[in-house]
Amino acid sequence: MKELSKVRHFVYNCRKCGLCGNKVSAKVPYVCPVREHTEGFEHFYAKGKITIAQGLFEGQIAPSPELTEIIYSCSLCGNCLTQCGIIDQDSGLPLTDPPQIIEAMRADLLREHPEWIAPAYHAMITSTSQYDNPWGLPRVTKERWAKGLSVRTIQEEPSEILLFTGCTIPSNPALIPRVQKAVAILNKANVDFAILGKDEPCCGSVQRRVGAIDLAQEMREKNISMFNNLGISTIVTLCAGCYHTLKVDYQKAEPPLKPKVYHLVDFLSQLITQQKLIFTHTQNLKVAYHDPCHLGRHSGIFDPPRDILNALPGITLVERRATRENTICCGAGGGMRLFANGTLAEKIGKASLEDAMATGAQAVVTACPFCEINLTSAAGQMNHPMPVYDIIDLMTKGLRLEE
Ligand code: SF4
Ligand code: SF4
Repeated sequence: MKELSKVRHFVYNCRKCGLCGNKVSAKVPYVCPVREHTEGFEHFYAKGKITIAQGLFEGQIAPSPELTEIIYSCSLCGNCLTQCGIIDQDSGLPLTDPPQIIEAMRADLLREHPEWIAPAYHAMITSTSQYDNPWGLPRVTKERWAKGLSVRTIQEEPSEILLFTGCTIPSNPALIPRVQKAVAILNKANVDFAILGKDEPCCGSVQRRVGAIDLAQEMREKNISMFNNLGISTIVTLCAGCYHTLKVDYQKAEPPLKPKVYHLVDFLSQLITQQKLIFTHTQNLKVAYHDPCHLGRHSGIFDPPRDILNALPGITLVERRATRENTICCGAGGGMRLFANGTLAEKIGKASLEDAMATGAQAVVTACPFCEINLTSAAGQMNHPMPVYDIIDLMTKGLRLEE
């Protein structure tokens, strides 16, 4: 219980009030998506998982395969932390932090009982060690998508700005247009940028979430040293998970990551304000924006995507009940697409789409490949599937970069 011991104070500061499972208000239809879409037993939400952590400390509960499954039934969305809200009056910091407790238990279980961890997580970890890509694809995947496009690698010619594509988008044929469209938009705004191509590393986000914290730390140290010696001043990420990892985890590390880090939506919203991107095409569409947990609640990027949507001619933005810091996870976070064959993740995603539909929205827009994959797959379970777009899709149309 090495990692759990490091967050012992969080375990014992929990008041066991249960708000992280029961709170309801106009903006919080429910807190924990896992509890809401399972049988609702206490171990499915934060209070129960913290009680288990306490039981482990006090020797009342022993680790087991069943307990491992419970600890992996969490999307690490962080809504429990937001809704709990107990803070230290002096420091202003949370007194308890359920996602950190859950991540620590996963790390200990993976170290001490790897035989209980689902094979899909082991495959992801092995693939990272082999290819520096969690999805089992070779390094060349990171540059194949760029063939024939007007984009150079930083090895060919240095650049101040690095476009960090992440592993998930270039590895998934359905998502590859996302990075190709991002390149077209940046070129339209005359941004001088480069990519790393096949030398782009994995950031280590998904590995950390499933408990492989030693591997994630090794990747972080290697990557920080590489980025700091690349001669760049700015990194622009396409993926919400990469953004949070680079902006928060890497910049808090010692030594820290030096280049500034932006998520693409933040970077592009600034280009719109500077009038470097002018929309000329009107799309008549009412949309609801889905705040990705890692971009919104975990990183505080709420306004830039909404600014973009409000700037797009013909787009009407409507808000769902749970938005911004109260957003409900799409269901894919924390390795949940790999948990229970993705059925729980899809169930959570379907509920999210139905909530968006209730606002009268004709489509859902997001800015994270994990949300897009899971919500699209959940839409397939609906009688009348709701279209799911990435914000880049709507920008490309608004700029007439595709007809
Ligand atoms: S995590 Fe917070 S909201 Fe949940 S039981 Fe503990 S103190 Fe209450
Ligand atoms: S992080 Fe999200 S899924 Fe996990 S216990 Fe908290 S609210 Fe539930």
